Amino acid sequence: MKRRMQAMLLDRPGIPLRLVELPVPHAGSGELLIAVEACGVCRTDLHLADGELPQPRLPVIPGHEIVGRVAVLGDGVAGFSVGQRVGVPWLGWTCGECRFCVSGRENLCDSARFTGYQINGGYAEFTVADARYCFALPNGDAAALAPLLCAGLIGYRALRLAGDPRRLGIYGFGAAAHIVAQLAKQEGRAFYAFTRPGDDAAQRFALGLGAAWAGGADEAPPQGLDAALIFAPVGALVPAALRHVDKGGCVVCAGIHMSDIPAFPYADLWGERSIRSVANLTRRDGIEFFELLAKISVHTTIQRFALAQANEALARLRSGHIEGAAVLTTGRGD
Ligand SMILES: [Zn+2]
Ligand SMILES: [Zn+2]
Repeated sequence: MKRRMQAMLLDRPGIPLRLVELPVPHAGSGELLIAVEACGVCRTDLHLADGELPQPRLPVIPGHEIVGRVAVLGDGVAGFSVGQRVGVPWLGWTCGECRFCVSGRENLCDSARFTGYQINGGYAEFTVADARYCFALPNGDAAALAPLLCAGLIGYRALRLAGDPRRLGIYGFGAAAHIVAQLAKQEGRAFYAFTRPGDDAAQRFALGLGAAWAGGADEAPPQGLDAALIFAPVGALVPAALRHVDKGGCVVCAGIHMSDIPAFPYADLWGERSIRSVANLTRRDGIEFFELLAKISVHTTIQRFALAQANEALARLRSGHIEGAAVLTTGRGD
């Protein structure tokens, strides 16, 4: 068993992550020590590194799309075994007692803690996680599974909150979108992909996944939409999407951070249209999502980076040069 590990550490927002060597953490009561195989790079990590999220616990190891193998079981852990493949999502701990937790809304827990934000995450060779929030995952390519842990899960929750759309708009065609598009398609929904204006590569990517239409976010789709999901952190997309959503339709904002939403005419909201956000996930979402994935096929498109290349992966995500999802790999795993 190794005693030291490599990790990418965020000392404070606005400066690059730093490659450091740290002691391998200890699995406390109820926790798993996990040998990380792969960790996805989420847009939330970028918001964290850029100082757009309040009160991170610093310094922190980012990363909340963790796939690895159980190395050590802490005291009292049941339901997992050493060597088992597991995943660690964004939701890392909830109180279990607040009015949100006791009403099936632990994603809104008043004192929730999040992986790679208030709890050290997966940009490291090892991580420790509360076993109650970990998911059993199948064998196979660890890096291909990693984006499911947030992009997939949040996309799934966003799709469910959109109602039952026949025609679904998707703004920002990155990691979450390319997964939710496949879910939507297999559920018999048509999806319409909106990318940065002129991003032909992203539009071709969306059409390759079966989009009914792909165009710039400044364009109008050929038909009205029943709902729209917004994954890009751009507030101006909210009124833009609302204009293309039919009566009774919903615009779901799925990112943790967004620039301000410009004013728009009330007429665009009239007709029982709604705007809502999706925040975090519940463990139930994860159970439902991974059960669903056992029945349908989702193929993740990934770009692999070594752990030490985390800053490069974040820079490419910031500039829109990742097709699908960026994933850090430790060199371990399938
Ligand atoms: Zn709570
Ligand atoms: Zn995320």
